[in-house]
Amino acid sequence: MSSKHAVSAEALERFNNPRNFGPLDEWDGHARITGPCGDTMEVWLKIENARIARAGFVTDGCGPSRAAGSMATELVTGKLVKDVLRIKQKDILHGLGGLPKDAEHCALLAANTLGAAIGDCQQRKQTARQCSDCSTAECPSKQRRADESEEEFRDRQALGKRMCQIGYKLLVMSGKGGVGKSTVSANLAIALALAGKRVGLLDVDIHGPSIPKLLGLDDSQVVTHEGELVPLEIGENLKVMSIAFFLPSRRDAVIWRGPRKYGAIRQFLKDVAWGPLDYLVIDAPPGTGDEPLSVAQLVGQPAGAILVTTPQDLAIADVRRSVSFCEKVSLPVVGIVENMSGLVCPHCGGKIDLFKTGGGEALAREMNVPLLGQIPIDPEIVTCGDGGIPYIHRFAGSPAAQAFNGAVERVLSRSQAASTTFHLSSPTGDNA
Ligand code: ADP
Repeated sequence: MSSKHAVSAEALERFNNPRNFGPLDEWDGHARITGPCGDTMEVWLKIENARIARAGFVTDGCGPSRAAGSMATELVTGKLVKDVLRIKQKDILHGLGGLPKDAEHCALLAANTLGAAIGDCQQRKQTARQCSDCSTAECPSKQRRADESEEEFRDRQALGKRMCQIGYKLLVMSGKGGVGKSTVSANLAIALALAGKRVGLLDVDIHGPSIPKLLGLDDSQVVTHEGELVPLEIGENLKVMSIAFFLPSRRDAVIWRGPRKYGAIRQFLKDVAWGPLDYLVIDAPPGTGDEPLSVAQLVGQPAGAILVTTPQDLAIADVRRSVSFCEKVSLPVVGIVENMSGLVCPHCGGKIDLFKTGGGEALAREMNVPLLGQIPIDPEIVTCGDGGIPYIHRFAGSPAAQAFNGAVERVLSRSQAASTTFHLSSPTGDNA
């Protein structure tokens, strides 16, 4: 490239006629990433005999973004999956004969989206695999411990087998009730399902299970099949189960003591027939006591916590405790969601800081954990919650829904990176 603005013939050709443009009908892995420039790229991959048989992409960016997506998908087609992990920004630029300096980030976006799609392939493969053919010799479900009975061993195996089919478990936690943990769990699960992921939403908030109410499932009945609990389905990708369905009365508070609560949570995690899932979003009990501890210990890896807080100092102190709880139980913090972060005026669109804003942001910086999003107060969230209507679906264009979606993008990229590292022996490279 002699000049900063020169465009090679290879690149120019793909500006207008990108190859592999469009989604695939059948695919094994998919990813969508929005780069810092605001362009969104999606990549789909179909694998046959350990090779990329077909690749497709779309982008809402202009010429260089189309050219980069085109070259990325051309470079991977026919290659062994393990070799595709080595494809980086520089390879895409090389294939295109370069891009103008101010458009080189398009090749980075293409490389990152490609890497995330490969991660998605691996994750789906992993979750589809049954424990019975699990090749991991050190799998804890395989050996009976000296201190457990035959029944306890079988029970633990059943739990391990169930959790093994789940790509990534997201524990949504808060220091206390009323900060919007269930609202965040429900909207997060819906957004992940809308992004094409197979999602389970599990409500184990024993003292205040509100997921059925939030999703309009209050009057639903759960059925069992061959001793397993069949989750309720919403749309194509979302399955839901709540402990509320099993309470003697949905109006009653649970007054079970510790071991009974632990047993209920454990049985619940073991007995729900989710099938293979990409994500299990768990609306965990609030606080840092025995109940969230049980959940964190039982779900296994890969898992991470999303901490929900409101911006006031008092709530922030609670989240600080939650972060240190996660450190103690070795549960990675995926990030913090600052909920009720200002009020968007329905009349003028201006923002009013009812409870201050920025508390979650300051805490995220202080504790060195990512801030996933700041969700403003929107009276429609309450109306939707009371009416059992998924807010993020009904008010897709609202500032709060956009904030939810931004948080989901960050969850996707962080959890995919984590599960890719977890499932693959070789690192994915230096594209991040
Ligand atoms: P938690 O699970 O932490 O107890 P919930 O999700 O049940 O909290 O939310 C408590 C109440 O706050 C509900 O009425 C819910 O509709 C409302 N709420 C949550 N987030 C928001 C928000 N961003 N804007 C307006 N209302 C909200």
